[in-house]
Amino acid sequence: MLDTVSKSFFHALAASGTLKSLASRYGMRRSTSFARRFIAGETLDEAVTACREIQTRGLLLTLDQLGESVTSLDEAAAATRNYLGIVERIIAAGIERNVSLKLTQLGLDLDRAATVDNLRRILDVAQRGDFFVRIDMENSPYVDATLDAFETVWKLGYHNVGVVLQSCLHRSAQDLERVNALGARVRLVKGAYKEPRAVAYQHKHEVDEAFARLMQTLLTAGRYPALATHDVRMIDATKAFAAERGIPQDAYEFQMLYGIRRDLQAALVEAGYRMRVYVPFGTEWFPYFMRRLGERPANVGFVLKGILTDRGA
Ligand SMILES: Cc1cc2nc3c(=O)[nH]c(=O)nc-3n(C[C@H](O)[C@H](O)[C@H](O)COP(=O)(O)OP(=O)(O)OC[C@H]3O[C@@H](n4cnc5c(N)ncnc54)[C@H](O)[C@@H]3O)c2cc1C
Repeated sequence: MLDTVSKSFFHALAASGTLKSLASRYGMRRSTSFARRFIAGETLDEAVTACREIQTRGLLLTLDQLGESVTSLDEAAAATRNYLGIVERIIAAGIERNVSLKLTQLGLDLDRAATVDNLRRILDVAQRGDFFVRIDMENSPYVDATLDAFETVWKLGYHNVGVVLQSCLHRSAQDLERVNALGARVRLVKGAYKEPRAVAYQHKHEVDEAFARLMQTLLTAGRYPALATHDVRMIDATKAFAAERGIPQDAYEFQMLYGIRRDLQAALVEAGYRMRVYVPFGTEWFPYFMRRLGERPANVGFVLKGILTDRGA
């Protein structure tokens, strides 16, 4: 119950313009500022530097330019061009060719056909450069449109792309059947958004049980699945299930977010598992940052400390 309350609280705070402008002023301005724990930088250069450091630790990565719903098709086209620039920069920098994006950045709220066109523009260039593109999953009103757009590009022959399913949603077992039938890659997460009772489990133990069930289906019937969680119990359950079924360590991967449980990330690499870090960057970091606070209210302590230290400095 507490987890539901704190999520709602932080989602309400995320809508506050005052808080956003305060956080934006202080969150990233120094190398020690509080939001830097979760955000790799505001510029692509900073993100590339962070990626190089991640790779030297034996970790895999996926780069994400932060940003959510755009309000015009011109903005969606600009976000698309931006991603094309990121792809080129990744090639020039020689870092791993893997990006994540959100379809509302490409216009999903405005025009589904235009969104698919924008996505295809990115996938064309990415395919030529041997990239993998992960479509993040947003909150429940977008799930149908996201899966439909994904299936459309998949059936057009773009297979360098995968989706995300959220164990908190009642529908995800069915969605997993649909994606498995295509033979496409899934990243399994618990779900970062505050969702209504009608569509989502409200208790952590239910979300965790669903995660464990979906993990088992993915490992037995999925294609190179990604288990994206910082939850040691879910990670241990995955390792145990894979070992019991004789599924090799390179047949799946773990994923975690930049700045979260670096100790666990290192331990998995050390034990021979494939471990990918999701590296977010950009100036539009506030909603992402607030979701991270909502997941673990203890994070608020270090943020407040950071604000006070930064203002005093
Ligand atoms: C690579 C990756 C990609 C993701 N993509 C999506 C997506 O496309 N759509 C989506 O809805 N969600 C996405 N998420 C977020 C996900 O849905 C969860 O909100 C998030 O991972 C927290 O859940 P958990 O599985 O870590 O488990 P929890 O039960 O929330 O946490 C387990 C433990 O992990 C640690 N932990 C978790 N979160 C934090 C935090 N913010 N700060 C510090 N410690 C923390 C704590 O020790 C906690 O006890 C993604 C997560 C990852 C790792």
